[in-house]
Amino acid sequence: MKKDILSLLPNELEEELQALHEPRFRAKQIFSWLHRGIRDFELMSNLPKALREKLKENYVLYQPKVLRKQVSQLDGTIKYLWELADGNAVETVVMQYKHGNTVCVSSQVGCRQGCAFCASTIGGLVRCLEPSEILDEVLFSQMDSGLSISNIVLMGIGEPLDNFDNVMRFLELVNHPEGMNIGMRHISLSTCGLIERFDDLADRDLQLTLSVSLHAPDDETRSKLMPANRGRGVEKLMDACRRYYEKTGRRISFEYAMIDGINDTEHHARLLAKEAKSLAAHVNLIPLNHVEERQFRPSTSGHMKAFIKILEDQGVNVTVRRRLGSDVDASCGQLRRKIQKQQRSTEPETAE
Ligand code: SAH
Repeated sequence: MKKDILSLLPNELEEELQALHEPRFRAKQIFSWLHRGIRDFELMSNLPKALREKLKENYVLYQPKVLRKQVSQLDGTIKYLWELADGNAVETVVMQYKHGNTVCVSSQVGCRQGCAFCASTIGGLVRCLEPSEILDEVLFSQMDSGLSISNIVLMGIGEPLDNFDNVMRFLELVNHPEGMNIGMRHISLSTCGLIERFDDLADRDLQLTLSVSLHAPDDETRSKLMPANRGRGVEKLMDACRRYYEKTGRRISFEYAMIDGINDTEHHARLLAKEAKSLAAHVNLIPLNHVEERQFRPSTSGHMKAFIKILEDQGVNVTVRRRLGSDVDASCGQLRRKIQKQQRSTEPETAE
């Protein structure tokens, strides 16, 4: 089996080269080509021909293909659907903010967390992404769009903490000074709350922002919306957040999708305010994106205003996420779903 060379860190590349009886300094050259988007060993012009041959024999390289690209007429947001080497597809979104261009990457093909309002989870989990595949989402989105990427959010398809090792390795790769060199403070990792991984993450002492998809401050509502809450619970989640905050000194951010009549009452706002305050957490409200297969609706603007007022009166730091790319299916799993459905409807009926 040929190895995935793009998932290797420079020191590992050095070891590989040593095993191939090649000088270690070649590792730096190869790493540099790879992280500039070169996906053909023949193009690595400063390597001797014999080494290029050895690399071809021992390693795979793949360039993701653009299956779909949609550019928002409203705000320039770009949504990519990338085809991976095995024919699976994942979504990546590039958003242009004043503070810099942000890429939202997927970490898995599909998802097994089962959140009731989310499109990514409908077909379940297909597989985890390799570190190289996540890196290529960033690199090729930058190369194709011509927009220099300064921020990354792990908020696309999948649950990053359910693909822990590969996501950690991706972070090391994308953060590497000889690679894309994107600072950890410019990276957010979003989780539905797999608390058993919070301590491992804190131990890495990364300066990234941990975003917790809270969506409800009480077990009754949260367990209905998010199966990941069942058997874990809000209290344990808050304990894990507190330990994370204390260990890393990094404030947690709570994601909260406002769903009409489900989690947007005064009672929910008061409970949320209490939890956010005790953790000095930031609250990011997201008007729910309607997903065709789901029955939920976004909160009315009246309910949102009242909700925000309660949080602000309690001194909670709250923002409302601006909706970008609403004309290009830019939220979670929607484009991949749509293409899957279209493919299904154009496939000829077969008699079983
Ligand atoms: N699995 C991770 C990251 C992927 S989802 C997590 O759960 O955090 C990124 C964010 O989008 C999460 O906060 C998720 O709950 C939210 N989300 C999913 N579907 C949504 C929808 N229909 N409307 C608004 N937010 C949604």
